[in-house]
Amino acid sequence: MAPITRRKHQDLFERLPSVRGEMKFNENIARYAWLRVGGPAEILFRPADLEDLQDFLHKTPTDIPVTVIGVASNLLIRDGGVPGIVIQLRNEFNKITIDKDTIKAGAGALDINVSRFALANERSGLEFLSGIPGTIGGALRMNAGAYDREIAHVLITAEAIDRDGNIHTVGVDELGFSYRNSKAPTDWIFTSATLYAEPGDKDSIIRKMDEITAARETSQPIRSRTGGSTFKNTAEGKAWELIDDAGCRGLRVGDAQVSQHHCNFLINLGHASANDIERLGTEVRRRVHEKSGIMLQWEIDRIGLTEKEAAS
Ligand SMILES: Cc1cc2nc3c(=O)[nH]c(=O)nc-3n(C[C@H](O)[C@H](O)[C@H](O)COP(=O)(O)OP(=O)(O)OC[C@H]3O[C@@H](n4cnc5c(N)ncnc54)[C@H](O)[C@@H]3O)c2cc1C
Repeated sequence: MAPITRRKHQDLFERLPSVRGEMKFNENIARYAWLRVGGPAEILFRPADLEDLQDFLHKTPTDIPVTVIGVASNLLIRDGGVPGIVIQLRNEFNKITIDKDTIKAGAGALDINVSRFALANERSGLEFLSGIPGTIGGALRMNAGAYDREIAHVLITAEAIDRDGNIHTVGVDELGFSYRNSKAPTDWIFTSATLYAEPGDKDSIIRKMDEITAARETSQPIRSRTGGSTFKNTAEGKAWELIDDAGCRGLRVGDAQVSQHHCNFLINLGHASANDIERLGTEVRRRVHEKSGIMLQWEIDRIGLTEKEAAS
């Protein structure tokens, strides 16, 4: 892990506004990441509430990079760490409330907690969220989905804040959702989502959630250190089939391995570095391209600097 020096912290710190939330320096964010790899965040900031976040963004000089993370279930954090500010929404942003036939969830709320909240209030349509281990913010950015539903199908409006601290409330059409993607401006940080939540039958909601849990248990290595699906499916075929056909099942680079269980999942067997995982993914892409002529696109978002970049 490349050290980010004290002096640099001090320089950066002096340029930041004071906040009410939590601010940590040189924070090990790999421990939050599903893959358990990667270097530190130069500064990790968890705003106390929307006002704190807005004030911070408005006053922070724009040359300081800002990256937002959820629970890093779709992230490969590189070994040299993430320069500038990493924002993680917790506290106020974890709140979930209900109003008639809609549920409003803060962007830091876990998808599973939103689906459990819907169940507790006998609301249907959000069961699919129980199978996605991220937050609502990550779901909006990635248009997360499972079992024929995605966030775009259940979203009414989303609230986001831009790099200058301006707040935007937008509907589905404005977000340009497509398969595991949204066209929201890259500097937007989602802060909440209002979702359709129609009354439903408690037993059938429970049944659906149980089916999803059972399907995930059998089809995905959910107890491994993984980042979920590594590559997007293609028009020509599912990513896992292309990877399997290219003979990559079980392929290893150091302690990074293509899962034997579901070969679109890369797993950290224990001591993999982010570099091992990225090199493995690059080798999988090369072999799939050689075999099928198709260049797979990363679904996992890779952030931060390599150790070499951080040292230079
Ligand atoms: C075992 C496993 C199974 C999975 N199964 C599925 C599945 O079935 N379907 C599916 O779609 N995904 C799946 N995933 C991937 C992942 O859970 C989703 O992509 C999830 O939506 C990511 O949410 P997150 O909060 O972890 O975001 P992160 O991984 O932390 O971030 C992902 C991206 O979202 C951005 N982001 C995060 N929060 C915000 C915010 N508040 N505002 C703006 N941008 C933000 C980040 O900058 C980054 O670009 C799986 C992952 C694992 C590990």
